[in-house]
Amino acid sequence: MTNQKKFKNWLQAFQLDHPLVIAGPCSAETEKQVLTIAHQLKDTDTSVMRAGIWKPRTKPGNFEGVGKIGLDWLKKAKAETGLKIATEVANKTHVDMALEADVDVLWIGARSTVSPFIVQDIADALKGTDKIVLVKNPVNPDLPLWLGAIERLHKADIQNLGVIHRGFSTYEKTGYRNNPEWQLAVDLQNEFPDLPLILDPSHIAGKRDIIFDICQTALDLNYDGIMVETHHTPDEAWSDAAQQITPQALAQMTEDLKIRKEHG
Ligand code: PEP
Ligand code: MN
Repeated sequence: MTNQKKFKNWLQAFQLDHPLVIAGPCSAETEKQVLTIAHQLKDTDTSVMRAGIWKPRTKPGNFEGVGKIGLDWLKKAKAETGLKIATEVANKTHVDMALEADVDVLWIGARSTVSPFIVQDIADALKGTDKIVLVKNPVNPDLPLWLGAIERLHKADIQNLGVIHRGFSTYEKTGYRNNPEWQLAVDLQNEFPDLPLILDPSHIAGKRDIIFDICQTALDLNYDGIMVETHHTPDEAWSDAAQQITPQALAQMTEDLKIRKEHG
């Protein structure tokens, strides 16, 4: 790939003096929930609000997302707070709807990144877009597969690219929901130093008490941002309840991370 320098332009456009913060619920649940969280996030370092509206659940029968109506709630959140909005897209229909709703950041989930067919379909649907597109690592620890996905998007003339490190599936008991395998992200960083690298501590952790330390490790490795699942009543969340933190806890965490970085 060429013109790697272009990758960080979108990040610079945020004009931040700290790593980018993307935050919001695992899933959009109700209009009230989305707007409550958005207003609480407005008073934090958050620039982009995330919420999944099409949810890739491991087993059928679990909550699979509110679908298209969630885009209206996110648009309202953006209008009321000025936060940019982000959601996961997993096929052409999702992409078309998200673009029509003027979603600012579209991310490709770990279960989609594993499939070159899915990534290619998404790349074709997004061809030439100036939206920000973030690619989560594939479920399995396979760097070439992750890089291949990025290349497919780049070849589709999508310039505003970045990656999200959300950890890797393992059958071993590691204490993490998804093993970080930091070396793999470091290798990616070495290969594409100008590709913004964002940490998703929530899906690595699976539980809220280790999120801070995972973020600290990433900041020490010079990650460009964090995407943290954030909910006003985390224990009542319809998906991933154990790993979500409140907007207030997020604000405290980013404050403490800054302090540690300054003194570290
Ligand atoms: C998510 O971000 O809510 C999600 C489903 O993540 P992942 O694709 O990393 O499992
Ligand atoms: Mn989640």
